[in-house]
Amino acid sequence: MAASSIDALSKPTVWHEFSPLANTSNAVNLGQGFPNWDPPNFVVSSMVDSVQTPGTATNQYCRPNCHLPLANALADEYNERPSWSHLTVDPMTNVMSSLGCTQVMYCAFRALLEKGDEVVLLEPAFDIYGSQVILMGGVPKFVSLKTDLSGAALTSNDVFTFDFDALEAAISEKTRVLVLNTPHNPTGKMYSREELTKISSIVSKYPNLVVFSDEVYEHIVFDPEESPHISFATLPNMWDRTLTMSSAGKTFSTTGWKVGWAIGPDDLIKKMTDLQQWVNFSSPSVTQDTIARCLKKAREPYEGFKTFYDWLAADYKKRRGVLEASLTAAGISPISPQGGFFICADTSKLTFPDSVYEEESLSAPSPMPRDWALARYMTHTNPKVAVIPPSPFYSAENVDQAKNYVRFAFCKTDDLLDEAKTRLATIDKSGDLEKK
Ligand code: GLN
Repeated sequence: MAASSIDALSKPTVWHEFSPLANTSNAVNLGQGFPNWDPPNFVVSSMVDSVQTPGTATNQYCRPNCHLPLANALADEYNERPSWSHLTVDPMTNVMSSLGCTQVMYCAFRALLEKGDEVVLLEPAFDIYGSQVILMGGVPKFVSLKTDLSGAALTSNDVFTFDFDALEAAISEKTRVLVLNTPHNPTGKMYSREELTKISSIVSKYPNLVVFSDEVYEHIVFDPEESPHISFATLPNMWDRTLTMSSAGKTFSTTGWKVGWAIGPDDLIKKMTDLQQWVNFSSPSVTQDTIARCLKKAREPYEGFKTFYDWLAADYKKRRGVLEASLTAAGISPISPQGGFFICADTSKLTFPDSVYEEESLSAPSPMPRDWALARYMTHTNPKVAVIPPSPFYSAENVDQAKNYVRFAFCKTDDLLDEAKTRLATIDKSGDLEKK
């Protein structure tokens, strides 16, 4: 199973194509989602403190579950959230850490899936989910969010809505896992309590079904009154069947440190830990130790804000505003995200030369989807701003739903966002890029 499943996935991914294309084209890179700034000073100095702590604890192996200081810091963090007050996270049994949310999810799939088990994914879905399911011999079942680009003032929560009938139809006794992602990549949608409650009533019918809730953008939330971040695990009776997954990468601008975690019931966490002890034994202690320190400091006042988390959300909200204004001025309607650091924008009015479809692409499906061709054209010719096509977030049969939008990242410094504004202004607002 393993070798052939890897062969099937051996193609380069969209991430391999667009960052190099951005570099060779001298494009402003608003493609791959990584901050192009250094981590905050308190994060860097925490790393130094961790490495220099006397004794061996931070520089040698840690427990396969999670480095104990990180487990304690995470338990404190979740136990102090008002919305988690009816739950108790035990640092010894309810916390698991691995190399980013990606490896946490890998361990969870590997620990739970038997060959042929089905996993329901809500598309657009981050491309790694489906690939991991295939690697395990599982079967991804895709349910599309309904996409309506026709509204006047577009927000991601208005544009991307649930088709509960389709979700209900896709879930069966064969479903082992449902993957949720809120705030959502690529759309920035945040699942409402009403939506999550409906999902919980569907999954309640299937005792064997486990929910993975990917919440890596949980601290980048723009309107917490109107659209608060809600963890699925906190809904009535959902704790026992939910693995809440998150990471430090987005919150502390440390995507390369790959510190991720799962919070969940003893039996699920134990399965993942049992697996990890035979794979990498344990994850790096130093980065976990650093993030344990950062989680404590993040709740303290920062740069005039009540907490670092408040500052982070406000800083990203400002960047969202800058990029949305640039897109609107360029005639590309942004679909305003409620959370995360991506903006999807309606590109239906843009045209480009047909020859782009014939270009050699490292990773595009054949035939090249419209969003992919447009993303290439925007990256290498006009306006030389790199973006990500959303089609890799869709299954082959639904790839058409991606054709009229692309994704822009705004986890980028002011100078880059300013330069993007200047370049985006060169897009022909009459809707015909071809004549440029
Ligand atoms: N999560 C980031 C994004 O969506 C990075 C993805 C990746 O590099 N695999 O852009």
